[in-house]
Amino acid sequence: MSDLIKLSLKATRDGLKNKDFSAVEITDSYLSEIEKSNSKLNAYISVEAEQARVMAKASDVKLAKGQGGALEGVPLGIKDLFSTKGTHTQAGSHILDGFKPEYESSITTNLWNDGAVMLGKLNMDEFAMGSSNETSYYGAVVNPWRAKGSNKDLVPGGSSGGSAAAVSAWLCAGATATDTGGSIRQPAAFTGTVGIKPTYGRCSRWGVVAFASSLDQAGPITRTVEDSALMLNSMAGFDKKDSTSVDISVPDFATAVERGVKGLTIGIPKEYRMEGMPQEIETLWQQGMAWLKDEGAIIKDISLPNTKYALPAYYIVAPAEASSNLARYDGVKYGLRVAGGSIDEMYENTRAKGFGAEVQRRVLIGTYVLSAGYYDAYYVKAQKVRTLIKRDFEQVFADGIDAILTPATPSAAFGVNDQEMKEDPVKMYLNDIFTVTVNMAGLPAIAVPAGKDGSGLPLALQIIGKPFDEETLFAAGRVIERSANIDFTPKKWW
Ligand code: GLN
Repeated sequence: MSDLIKLSLKATRDGLKNKDFSAVEITDSYLSEIEKSNSKLNAYISVEAEQARVMAKASDVKLAKGQGGALEGVPLGIKDLFSTKGTHTQAGSHILDGFKPEYESSITTNLWNDGAVMLGKLNMDEFAMGSSNETSYYGAVVNPWRAKGSNKDLVPGGSSGGSAAAVSAWLCAGATATDTGGSIRQPAAFTGTVGIKPTYGRCSRWGVVAFASSLDQAGPITRTVEDSALMLNSMAGFDKKDSTSVDISVPDFATAVERGVKGLTIGIPKEYRMEGMPQEIETLWQQGMAWLKDEGAIIKDISLPNTKYALPAYYIVAPAEASSNLARYDGVKYGLRVAGGSIDEMYENTRAKGFGAEVQRRVLIGTYVLSAGYYDAYYVKAQKVRTLIKRDFEQVFADGIDAILTPATPSAAFGVNDQEMKEDPVKMYLNDIFTVTVNMAGLPAIAVPAGKDGSGLPLALQIIGKPFDEETLFAAGRVIERSANIDFTPKKWW
């Protein structure tokens, strides 16, 4: 294995600028590692080797002249949810078979404008619905991490499981991901990587296949907090093509990374101390508080009383929006078409064959909660709860809280094909217990690896911030990363 692929995104960028190695060289190193490893991990569903080399060559021309953007020549993986012109974009679904968009998403456009190189498209739960990457039409992704002394395959989390696994296993220098209810932060937590979901409106949703438009937000998964800041800087920005994109300047996130937490007031919400929460999660949380306190933060108990309603409300709002967004996949405009005797039958056949079981479940739930007679009881009620959740946060921020510390997930990575989760979808949904509140309130939050469980698997803490204050998240995240001082490199078995 070439050591180049083990460099952080920052070191990659700097090494390229210093001409220590070329963009073609590092791109080839990643491509050869992908070739060796992908059959075991299944992180990529499409590798764009030829295009990657063309992009890398163009970067080398610029770098040779001392030119180039902030990520010039840096090889990235792109979640299959982002439209990339002329290349595989299927949201991990069968229904988008063969779909290659004519356009490029705004986020990937930003990345290419800054000189990044695309290695390929990353596996994900179908239409980003899931917490284990097992709902993908392309099969499960395997977590590069294994429990000590075990050779059992674990899930990398979801829906951005391919992104998290690829970053953790050195199959790209950083990856794009999306988060509707936790899909950046939970897979980051399961793989010992860093994932930030920015404030709703910070990154453009244009050209990102829609799941639940009022909750969807893109962000990076990287190996370090500093890398996260650098990559978000390139992804973020106002876009007039997305009416929910916010016209606010993007600060230089990297300068906030070493700012520290001195004088910040960090809230600890008592409602996140869930019944039955494993002791090691509680211990990790306490440890996080101690680290922040040691660096000069003030730790304060707070209350977010509507937290317990977040998960049920999310599983009404998100499917409702999904059922509407996914109505467009009818066998006429995109991808798969399964013939039928009439046009209605063609629609039915296409949707029955094209959507997997979890997506069908979401469409059914969504249609149900939006239907006449149930709309007020479910959808309107959930929207009201959403407002209350948002107000809880507004209240604590108004009371002087600068950021909130919580666990990122209720457990470490679980096994592929876990029977309990399979039999009861609500068990799978419980993975999102600490993350969905943030999407419901439109806030930014970062997951940072902070410890390991009894079997050596990564565990993460989450820091939730005020709207458009990602800088504080990078600063506090860096303190956790530095204080934990743990090597989150998985032991290579693949
Ligand atoms: N696990 C959650 C769900 O299945 C969140 C998914 C996401 O954030 N895209 O809806």
